[in-house]
Amino acid sequence: MVLYCDNCFEPFEGERCPHCGRKKAREARADDLCFLTEQNIIWGGMLAGALEENGIYYVAQNVLGAGLAFKTGLLSERVRYYVFFERLQDARDIVTQICPSPDGGNEDGFEEDDFEDEESFENEEDGSEGGAEE
Ligand SMILES: [Zn+2]
Repeated sequence: MVLYCDNCFEPFEGERCPHCGRKKAREARADDLCFLTEQNIIWGGMLAGALEENGIYYVAQNVLGAGLAFKTGLLSERVRYYVFFERLQDARDIVTQICPSPDGGNEDGFEEDDFEDEESFENEEDGSEGGAEE
């Protein structure tokens, strides 16, 4: 069963949200808005186009706000994209196809992982924290 943290806008499996540690989560529903990715406006624009082409409804949220972007430069403007849970996997596939890894690093790993594949998710933690599962 996939749960949903409405604090992080993140579906997850297991007892608590891997991002904020929150335990109070309910079952994910098809119309739950889930955090997809954060991109600059260039990649975000391409992503938005691809989502539309695939008929995936999304919500975009500017991280800095419109006013700040002019001071810091358009390229530093970040946009967060959210999609409904029912299309999250499709949307993630699209992100993987067209967007570079966030900030060139793979700090998280969670985004790119098929989160239904528990074993590879466990391996992300290099085995040191994985004792919970028998
Ligand atoms: Zn959370």
